[in-house]
Parts: sequence; structure tokens; C-alpha cells
Amino acid sequence: MVTELYKNVYSFPVVLPDSPLKAINIYVIKDKEKALVLDTGYNMEESKESMIQGLKELGLKVEDTSLFLTHLHSDHTGLAAMFADAGCDVYASKLDGESVNNMAKGKYWNLMGELLQLFGISEDEINVTDNPGYLYRLSHAIDIKYVEPGDIIKTGDYEFEVADLKGHTPGHIGLIEKNHKLLFCGDTILNRITPNITFWGFEYGDILGTYISTLLRLRGEDIEHCFSTHRSMITDYRKRIDELVAHHIDRLQEILDAMEEGEEYVIREISPRISWRIKADSWDDFPAAQKFFASGETMSHVEHLVFTGNVKRENRNGTLYFKKVNPKYEKEWF
Ligand SMILES: [Zn+2]
Repeated sequence: MVTELYKNVYSFPVVLPDSPLKAINIYVIKDKEKALVLDTGYNMEESKESMIQGLKELGLKVEDTSLFLTHLHSDHTGLAAMFADAGCDVYASKLDGESVNNMAKGKYWNLMGELLQLFGISEDEINVTDNPGYLYRLSHAIDIKYVEPGDIIKTGDYEFEVADLKGHTPGHIGLIEKNHKLLFCGDTILNRITPNITFWGFEYGDILGTYISTLLRLRGEDIEHCFSTHRSMITDYRKRIDELVAHHIDRLQEILDAMEEGEEYVIREISPRISWRIKADSWDDFPAAQKFFASGETMSHVEHLVFTGNVKRENRNGTLYFKKVNPKYEKEWF
């Protein structure tokens, strides 16, 4: 169950019941003092059991550790309150750390209501309780030590530098160990599945463009071991980055091709016109939560097309309308 992937770097899966992701890969870096644990799993009994069991196999209790949160999602932060309550230091970026506490307090979920209207999916009857992120969020707000890109966290023989990985979430961070060429990338690079890139509000600008820039910056780093949080280990992280960038470029052109010249669309009308890996015959067959995730994913792409001048956006009474103005996606990323 527990595997040593590198000297004093261990990993074990924590189960995520009801999630298509199935599990999250937890990383633990052992030290004579406090071990460093990366991310947690959902606030759910099954996740909690596998976390405690994994730590136990390493001879650790929750209170023997510090916790590093790569990003706000509940499958990464759900059990953070268990660590905080045991007296552990909990590290996160300010942006995502504040959101984690706003998730616990409930305030964070107001954004969802605004987005339903922006995307034109209010009539799809999507509720916050359809969202596993809401159901399995951490139980209460906690004290977080905010870290910034460039900060160093020493554990054992390692000097981990906090890396700016914004894109999958606005404040996603990771850890880079330059002497050993290690990267803990969270959900930024995943094998076999593409990390969800969604819309977080206009204040974060072109988040898909931000994500691709993050990937290309990582591509330029000298990394030998890339540790990601879902699915199998990545053997060639540069190849995987190239595949992810190509996927999004194809998706952008697919969206442009799906929009008729001179026609105006809301997000709800664009999403069903593009391909999804989910098994559903039509938009109406999408489970409610997937309608929301698909709309967010479509929106991040369409918003990028607004930034590249391919699409024009208009906000009328809180709903966004889009029109194609240039049918070819021409931005050169490489
Ligand atoms: Zn995530």
C-alpha cells in the first residue's frame, strides 16, 4: 500500500468514494522531526480511515506531521481540520487557503449561484448539494500558515521551494526540490486525465492561458521525478505537458468550429456542441454536477478565446453571450 518512491519520499492512495477520480495519491516526506504530508482526501469516513492507516504504516500519527495543501479542492483539503485540530502546522497559498476556510463557512459557495446565471444554466436545476466539493469539504475553518512562491520548507535532507502553479485553481502551489530534481505538482499535471480548468471570476482573467503558461514554465525546469495527485506516476513529464497543451489547443479550435458565423450563444448552448469523455447521450443526460463542471470548463476556454480576439463577449442582465469573430485559433505557444 505504501510505496517509497525516492529516499524518504513515500506515497499511498486515499480513497475518494463516489468520485470518478477514485483516489488521491498522498505524499509523505519523512523527517526526524515532523514529517510533511501533502494533501488529504475528502472529509469522509473512508478517506479518513485510509489516511490514518497510511500514516500508521509509516509509523506516524497525525500529530507527528505538518500538512501542505496544494490547492483548495475538497479532495485535497477535506481532512485539513483533522490535522489542524491535532496541532499540526497547515501550509497553503493565501488565495486558496482563504477559499478553503470560506468553503467551510459556506460563503465560497455563493459563487456557484452567480456562475449558473452567467453560463445560462439556471434552469438546469443544479444545486450546491450535487457538488462533492461541497458535501465533503472540511468541517470548520482552521489556522493556516500562508506560503508564497519562493518560500523554502525544509524537511529532512530536502529544501522544498514553493512553486507557483496557478491555473487548475487560482492559488495552486507545488513543491520543487532543485538539488534532487523533484516536483510535487498537485493536480497541475495528471496522467491519462486532463485536469479540470474552470472559470473562477473575471478577476482571475484568462485562467486557461495562465494554466498553459504554468505548464510551459514547468517544462523549462530540470525535473527528473514528477509526483502528481491522481492516477499513475508520470514518467516523462515534458511529453505529458505537450499532450495537455495540445489537448487544450484542439479544444479551442473545436469550440470555434462549433459556433456558427454570426450566431450568438450562451455557455449552455456551446457545451453540448463539443465532445466530452463522459458517457451521456445528450446534455439532458449529464448528471447535474457534470453539467456544472462542463460549463465551467467550456467557459474557461471561451474566455481564453475572448482574450485572443477570436470571440466577443457581452453581459446582458447577468448572462454572458458569445459571438465568433475570428474562426481560426492562431496563438503560438511553442
Ligand atoms: Zn483539484
